[in-house]
Amino acid sequence: MPEIRKDIVSGSWVIIATERAKRPETFTPQKPEKQNDKLDKCPFCCGHEHMTPPEVLAIRKNTSIPDEPGWDVRVIPNKYPALSICEGKECEKQGIFEFMAASGVHEVIIETPDHEISPGKLPVEHVKKIVDSYYHRYVELEKDAGIKYIQIFRNHGQEAGASIEHPHSQIIALPVLPPSLKQEMEEARNYYFREKKCVYCKMIEEELGRGDRVIMENKDFAAFIPYAARFPFETWILPKRHQSSFSEITMDERQNLAEILHDILSRMWDYLKDPPYNYYLHTSPTDYNHIPDYHWHFEIVPKLTTVAGFELGAGMFINISNPEASAEYMRKGH
Ligand SMILES: [Zn+2]
Ligand SMILES: [Zn+2]
Ligand SMILES: [Zn+2]
Repeated sequence: MPEIRKDIVSGSWVIIATERAKRPETFTPQKPEKQNDKLDKCPFCCGHEHMTPPEVLAIRKNTSIPDEPGWDVRVIPNKYPALSICEGKECEKQGIFEFMAASGVHEVIIETPDHEISPGKLPVEHVKKIVDSYYHRYVELEKDAGIKYIQIFRNHGQEAGASIEHPHSQIIALPVLPPSLKQEMEEARNYYFREKKCVYCKMIEEELGRGDRVIMENKDFAAFIPYAARFPFETWILPKRHQSSFSEITMDERQNLAEILHDILSRMWDYLKDPPYNYYLHTSPTDYNHIPDYHWHFEIVPKLTTVAGFELGAGMFINISNPEASAEYMRKGH
């Protein structure tokens, strides 16, 4: 049974994903498989629907049948989940340590039937369907009382952790609040009590006012490289209207989110030559939202450098790029 173990010193939770556990010797680097072999075996390709668990949501052509071809976006439970719905949501003790059953949900959003394409190269209308499926799964999973936090994320490229190259995002719904969220929420709350204003709203105002770190904006969203970016070309996308939970996004805002996300990913493809990257949603916890002091956002992190000893040891980052110059490069492409 997968467990979530608590670090007794830092208070951080770690998922020990026994369902996905590998034998120790398999952690050595593997040779990549040949492309042609992969296409035959890819469980996410159109026509291979029988290779995955039954879909929980799909955006399909009107007449098509579930778990058959005819879909544009398809959401399925992960066949090898990091956690799964189970009994026992209470903490248990093991000696001086604490753990609980890793009860939660792990789903895969297959973004397109096309194995080869990247979201930066998909039409915006298709990216809107991906954003819509994020939203529909979010509001559905939020109803489960055992779920405290819903992490939507995307790994692109092997170096960024994508084990299947077919374009896909993932959702992990957790019974605990993850440490990075806890830290952001605490600091945002401190700022709110000091300044009587949401720190993210203030940041948007400051960045749009200055403009030198802004990559682009539209009616509802701003995309910029943060002042203290940890990684080269790290980019944040924030809704201009204050909203703490992703579930508050309107239909029009979903359209504009799709447009800005598509634009940023397409610039990364063109200007940074399709780098591996991760992006993820930060949003308020499911049982504590509609709050004035937190503000949901996406963080996009290209994997252009390696997190090494200093970063792991200090939890502090050395960024070898200049955020203002990087933003200018992402605006102009040179
Ligand atoms: Zn495929
Ligand atoms: Zn705000
Ligand atoms: Zn964040």
